[in-house]
Parts: sequence; C-alpha cells; structure tokens
Amino acid sequence: MTNEEALKWLDKHIIDNLDVKLIASKAIKKQIPKKPTADYHCSTCEADIIESVNYCWNCGQAIDRDGK
Ligand SMILES: [Zn+2]
Repeated sequence: MTNEEALKWLDKHIIDNLDVKLIASKAIKKQIPKKPTADYHCSTCEADIIESVNYCWNCGQAIDRDGK
C-alpha cells in the first residue's frame, strides 16, 4: 500500500473517530517526502534541516532532497 492509498483507506474506513484519523493521516503524510523551503528549513515545522539527513529532526517529516 502506498502512502496515498493509505490516506484514501483512512478516509473510507475511519469515519467515526476523527482523532484517530487525524493522527494517522499526519503520520502517513510525514512519510511522503516534502521539499525543504528555499533557505533549507522544514516545510512542516520550520526547523533547520541539517544537510545529510532524510528526516526532519524536529517533527519527523521526510525530506525530499532531489538534486541537492
Ligand atoms: Zn520538521
């Protein structure tokens, strides 16, 4: 199951527990790599991104370092 499929599954199957849905979808979304901001901060929590890491040290957001 890809991350996108997992998010769709959540949408369909967890409709009566918004807290669980929110926590799970946040956790899945952090696994989908996001590009850092232009000045190299995490686009989720704004923490400084240390070069050589693939995850934000602060919030766990996966970092897309394509071409860097
Ligand atoms: Zn972060």
